[in-house]
Amino acid sequence: MKGLREHVTPEALRLRAGDRTYRRGRDYADEGRVVDLAEDGPVIIGTVEGSHDYEVVLEVEGDDLVGTCDCPMGQTGAFCTHLVALGLAWLAQAGEPADPGPRAPVRGRARPRRITTEGLPTLSTLRERVKAFSRRPVECWR
Ligand SMILES: [Zn+2]
Repeated sequence: MKGLREHVTPEALRLRAGDRTYRRGRDYADEGRVVDLAEDGPVIIGTVEGSHDYEVVLEVEGDDLVGTCDCPMGQTGAFCTHLVALGLAWLAQAGEPADPGPRAPVRGRARPRRITTEGLPTLSTLRERVKAFSRRPVECWR
């Protein structure tokens, strides 16, 4: 049975999570949202800060990498953002062996921090609300 080092790779995480979730997870890791990280044999346990703090477990099971997270997405059995973040944080801490030579500065990327708009109403939602409000009887305004 192979260990964490063979199974926890950026590629393995991306394959399980999908591109979109992987990118968000990478942002989480970059932003230092993995606040707690412990390794125990084939298991990584951590805490990832999101809208809540989530308990995240990554585990090599047989010849596969599996994860559990107590976020809403994780509870559906999906490989969620937090699992990606935990895996990447673990890699950063363990020193990724698949990345020889000078390590690229992860935090030095010249791109603006993404501001998450998750949970906020979109512009079109706001427009609809304004429209709905203005359709009220005119008496309301007097
Ligand atoms: Zn999660």
